[in-house]
Amino acid sequence: MPKKTTLPNKDTIDEVDAEISEGVQHAVRLVNVSRVYAVGDSEVVALNDVSLDVTPGELVVVSGPSGSGKTTLLNMVGGLDYASSGRVILMDVPIGDYDETFRAIFRLTNTGFVFQSYNLISTLTAVENVMFPMQLSDRRSRELRKDAIKLLEDVRLSDRINHLPWQLSSGEQQRVAMARAMANDPPIIIADEPTANLDAESAEMIRGLLVHLNKIGKTVFVVTHDENIIGIPGARHLRMDKGVLSANE
Ligand code: ADP
Ligand code: MG
Repeated sequence: MPKKTTLPNKDTIDEVDAEISEGVQHAVRLVNVSRVYAVGDSEVVALNDVSLDVTPGELVVVSGPSGSGKTTLLNMVGGLDYASSGRVILMDVPIGDYDETFRAIFRLTNTGFVFQSYNLISTLTAVENVMFPMQLSDRRSRELRKDAIKLLEDVRLSDRINHLPWQLSSGEQQRVAMARAMANDPPIIIADEPTANLDAESAEMIRGLLVHLNKIGKTVFVVTHDENIIGIPGARHLRMDKGVLSANE
């Protein structure tokens, strides 16, 4: 089936925004999703028939051994990659039916991603990194900058706004990444082992931010081995093993 084609104009952005209005039933819905990577002559089944329903406002924590498919799962949940088979539905939108332009705008407005290794743009300052996902906005850059500074204040970095990533500690870089994930106030926050490279104090702060975002109604989807995240009251703990997702009861 051909992909629906859209142009990156104001109408497209409004169309994406309309999809995220009230009454969303599932923040994330995976229906028999598989992802198979072709490597040379062989195939790697990174996700094997994964089905999952996540209601808006849930905190989902996934753990499992290295190579079990956790990052591949997050790439599906974040609409970064196409399923080899099955359906990926985000905020009730069947994202696999759309072309890359729509998907890119959809991601920017609906998801905030936090990575294990921060992935800040090395040539941009903290505030510029936070402003980066705001580029679709038609508001003036001075106002966007004000919003970005406010987000950096929320992660207690108001004294680091003009620092470049290399001038920041690991914990500070990850806090910038959290602020960036919040730039467009998306309903879904996705984090891939966000505390794995951090000292105890920074990890505690990132955990606190994830809990806070969940409390204010965000759907939070985290891959982690951090027992303190797994143990967050109300968290739904899932386990990934050899591409198969199961409840961890
Ligand atoms: P995890 O995050 O749990 O460590 P990944 O999702 O990164 O696991 O990878 C799952 C499996 O898929 C691994 O065997 C990995 O080698 C393989 N894989 C991941 N990405 C690719 C890719 N782009 N091409 C080929 N194989 C991949
Ligand atoms: Mg991984």
